[in-house]
Amino acid sequence: MGAQRTQGSPSNLRQLPAVSRLLQHERVRKAIAAHGRELVVHCVREVLEQMRDRLRRGEAMPVDLESVAYEVVRTVERWRTSTLRYAINATGVVLHTGLGRAVLAEAARRAVSEVAQAHSMLEIDRETGERGDRIEHVRELLCRLTGAEDATVVNNNAGAVLLAVTVLAQGREVIISRGQLVEIGGAFRMPDIIAQSGARLVEVGTTNRTRLQDYERAITPDTALLLRCHPSNFRIVGFTEEVSARELASLAHRYSLPVLDDVGSGCLVATEQFGLEHEPTLQESVQAGCDVVTCSGDKLLGGPQAGIVLGRKEIVQRIRRHPLHRALRVDKMTLAALEATLRLYLNPQEAIREIPVLRTLAMSAEQIQRRARRLRRRLQAVLPTEKIVVHLRAGMSAVGGGSLPGQQLPTTLVCLRPLQMGAQQLARALRWQQPAVFTRIEQDEVVIDPRTLLEAEVGALVQAVACAIDQCLGGEVSHA
Ligand SMILES: *Cc1c(COP(=O)(O)O)cnc(C)c1O
Repeated sequence: MGAQRTQGSPSNLRQLPAVSRLLQHERVRKAIAAHGRELVVHCVREVLEQMRDRLRRGEAMPVDLESVAYEVVRTVERWRTSTLRYAINATGVVLHTGLGRAVLAEAARRAVSEVAQAHSMLEIDRETGERGDRIEHVRELLCRLTGAEDATVVNNNAGAVLLAVTVLAQGREVIISRGQLVEIGGAFRMPDIIAQSGARLVEVGTTNRTRLQDYERAITPDTALLLRCHPSNFRIVGFTEEVSARELASLAHRYSLPVLDDVGSGCLVATEQFGLEHEPTLQESVQAGCDVVTCSGDKLLGGPQAGIVLGRKEIVQRIRRHPLHRALRVDKMTLAALEATLRLYLNPQEAIREIPVLRTLAMSAEQIQRRARRLRRRLQAVLPTEKIVVHLRAGMSAVGGGSLPGQQLPTTLVCLRPLQMGAQQLARALRWQQPAVFTRIEQDEVVIDPRTLLEAEVGALVQAVACAIDQCLGGEVSHA
């Protein structure tokens, strides 16, 4: 192809092909046919501009027509390829925020696809043909499943808390325990949310111990709300004490104040059945008398990203009339997925079978071990033993996503110890495969946790590992 490496110098700037010549190059013409003239012309200019800059800085690079045309086509293709795409979660973190938290149930995926493909009855009354309310698709279901009087849904739980605190306490005081002033994933910090809502934060108790009297002593005529927040991503152990939802609600009601309980993960089932500690459920929080309860849709609930608000009718009505409710409105795809997910919960056995988050938590140690053995066998069949050691080891999966902190589930890890490169290098190569594979690194090995693999992913994973090693080291790896 005659790609001469040219020393960077001002004279080389003149050797760069002209825009018109590039546009006539065969590969560029094909790109125009496939992707349209506008984008390709833009990329030609962009590539030439970047090359000029680099040449001026004295960098050496091929500037012949063929090489520049190749760069143009690559740039065009990069623009036309999605980056938000499917990836294999081999990390063992069930609710991995970086990998999109909850995987949706098949019924939810079908529902999303249906409302995306055509018109839907999102906000319309079938009987009268008049404008309806989008929340109606899930309102009754949420009440039925949790025992709440009323319910609504917004974009996410951070929005739900912001909205509820704004409606209940703007310009007044909110009392919260120092042990619950949490930060969840960087941008959600309880003190910031309260400040943003225009309420004043009143901290009570200490980091490790807060008693009912601490709350009671802090109540003034200016108090508008008692706030509870489930510390969902850390644990305080040892000499600790927090006030239960029930105690707090009865104190609040003696002073005619509401309690807002941010439970975080939106659990509707008993987590003990998965060998985990008890995670507070939505039903319990409602039962305990909390006036408003909020949670995420895409944590333990196993649905789409959403902020669910449950509570007393009068308060939920006020929340629904607030302009922030409109600003934080959920879209039809979210609602479709949420509705379908909630309908599965009407039959709890079906929910555990069908909702991937619950199914993944419910996997038995034997099931995982069988998967691990099968994976090891298939990896060993294609990977050269002089390049990599594959072995099994007992380990732990994590729930993740700010749910059940510090609690782990026993698993069998498939460990890859590359012999001619570092574990980091292999992990990176895996992330650039098609599909991308995300793993963990422990003890200088790349570890794969079969728990979070989906049924059909074993083949693709084996292929990805083989290709990654091939790319890093070259040589023969049989692509079975
Ligand atoms: C995760 C979490 C949030 C934030 O929820 P998003 O749906 O991610 O906005 C808020 N509060 C608690 C207690 C949480 O666990």
